[in-house]
Amino acid sequence: MSESDGVEHRRLIIAGSGIAGLTAAIYAGRSNNDPLVLEGDEPGGQLTLTTEVDNYPGFTEGISGPDLVSNMREQARRFGAEVENGVIEAVDVENDPGVGHRFRVTVSGDVYTADAFIVASGASARTLGIPGEDELMGYGLSTCATCDGAFFRDEKIVVVGGGDAACEEAVFLTKFASTVYLVHRREEFRAEDYWIDRVMEGVEDGDIELKLNTEVTELHGSRENGIDNVTMVHHPEGHPTDKPDDPDTDEFEFDAGAVFSAIGHTPNTSYLEGLDVEMDNEGYLDTAGGDGGGQTATGVPGLFGAGDVVDHHYQQAITAGGMGCKAAMDADDYLEDLSRERAAAGGETEGEGEPAAAGSDD
Ligand SMILES: Cc1cc2nc3c(=O)[nH]c(=O)nc-3n(C[C@H](O)[C@H](O)[C@H](O)COP(=O)(O)OP(=O)(O)OC[C@H]3O[C@@H](n4cnc5c(N)ncnc54)[C@H](O)[C@@H]3O)c2cc1C
Repeated sequence: MSESDGVEHRRLIIAGSGIAGLTAAIYAGRSNNDPLVLEGDEPGGQLTLTTEVDNYPGFTEGISGPDLVSNMREQARRFGAEVENGVIEAVDVENDPGVGHRFRVTVSGDVYTADAFIVASGASARTLGIPGEDELMGYGLSTCATCDGAFFRDEKIVVVGGGDAACEEAVFLTKFASTVYLVHRREEFRAEDYWIDRVMEGVEDGDIELKLNTEVTELHGSRENGIDNVTMVHHPEGHPTDKPDDPDTDEFEFDAGAVFSAIGHTPNTSYLEGLDVEMDNEGYLDTAGGDGGGQTATGVPGLFGAGDVVDHHYQQAITAGGMGCKAAMDADDYLEDLSRERAAAGGETEGEGEPAAAGSDD
């Protein structure tokens, strides 16, 4: 770490303290890269929203999400990682003569520079984009069943979505709801068979009712009294909002005490807008992939990506952790090359020289 003009320079900055960022921090700390982890507005990431993680290897009886990330944070600190509060607002590349290529990271008004940067900023729950959503978010509408389910005991609870998260939330909410109504715009679920089986058990037990080929189009209620009812549309072939004028599209009102939205995630990459880095059309970060070193490299030298911010398919704790490990190892290769190049250029001062190609195996 060094400081000039009030700007602190770091060898490596990691955006995010979810499973990907903390795993990267453990590996980077052990490689003497003195990582600074900036936690963002969800310290510990998405796993802090779940009480039970049963599929993370090594915990025979499962572990709570907050405990798992808290253990990882302590483990990262044991190897010298600094984990600090701070939401990154912008990342730019500086390429000044005598300083070379490095990142300029703006965090809650403060500025850091860094030789390498790992993007592990995950993904945030997607919104429904329907009337009533903004007003009722947190007042009957939620994106986190484990956080808010207990507020709606003996209520009719609507869960929107058709993937793992929606099925898991529907099953979880049977603990509290009089009935859970799982609303999915298609006939088939996208979830793992395990979760579909659990949902079907709930249906057989009378705890869950399926509303397939159906979408919620409006939420009604108030901040004082929460959700009263919702408007839904149904079409026998699915995607009813795409067929508003079809005579088979049926609109109806449905009484409900709460709505849980579980329709997927948006990657947290808006703070990277100042970088010329490739993303897909949903904003997920593009990385090199493939075999060999450098799988987590992006098109910007020294910038690596890991976890749900890259991966729109697996989105699991273990896969995010695996990518965090790879990103730290790729960053270490990059930083070693950078040090060698600076030494060869005759200036071993931190922050000088030019970088090597990302992911080089030298
Ligand atoms: C309710 C729920 C239950 C789940 N249960 C399981 C399970 O049982 N098993 C399983 O394997 N997976 C589960 N998952 C999925 C798992 O949580 C994710 O795949 C995993 O957390 C992804 O880790 P990540 O580090 O990539 O991102 P995240 O966990 O999303 O962490 C992202 C981090 O980046 C930070 N960040 C974002 N923007 C910025 C910024 N501008 N500046 C600085 N930091 C920023 C956030 O604050 C956060 O710390 C569950 C997810 C949810 C929502």
